Amino acid sequence: MDTLILKVVFTVFLLLCMVVRYPHARRNKNNHIISDRKTRQERVLLGGAFLGMMVFPMLYVFTGLFEFANYTLPIYLHVTGMVLLIPALWLFYRSHKDLGRNWSATLEIRSEHSLVTNGVYKYMRHPMYSACWLWVICQALLLNNFIGGLTGLLAFGMLYFLRIGKEEAMMEREFGEQYQTYKSLTHRVLPKF
Ligand code: SAH
Repeated sequence: MDTLILKVVFTVFLLLCMVVRYPHARRNKNNHIISDRKTRQERVLLGGAFLGMMVFPMLYVFTGLFEFANYTLPIYLHVTGMVLLIPALWLFYRSHKDLGRNWSATLEIRSEHSLVTNGVYKYMRHPMYSACWLWVICQALLLNNFIGGLTGLLAFGMLYFLRIGKEEAMMEREFGEQYQTYKSLTHRVLPKF
């Protein structure tokens, strides 16, 4: 498929994700944080995710810097990438909405933090990470470039695997038995019905 179309589609998706996140980031800036687990590792991983999921793909789309690292994929994978953007955006939107004031980009607990188990959180514990997995898979399918397309998978994969255990331990410390029960009823990123 024409790379221009693929680039436009992915860029629009990124913009929509920013539109979804912006009001939550703005509102939650005023949250009173009572437990902050933003370690140096966490900051580095977040910085890496920002580079891999936003900066490198946009450098690929808007400059010719990475042209030497292109690869090609069959059209059916391009179509798959486009179709998967829809659940990715929907999950990104729903998880922000359901978490509400409890959302933050990093690992922390605010005063009045409540355990969300409704909405899309009824079916999985980490729908926002499910959305991010879909995001980075679509990125690799639509932006056929080793730097612009694959660094998202690499960076988010590292963030996910190094963070998930810590996040769940933090939630378990905070919510105890309530979180253990919730854990037994859900999977991490795949829905359980
Ligand atoms: N892992 C979740 C949320 C990512 S945002 C997801 O993928 O959907 C990260 C913050 O969300 C963490 O700092 C934690 O405080 C909060 N959080 C994670 N799961 C939560 C839940 N079920 N209820 C309330 N807050 C939650």
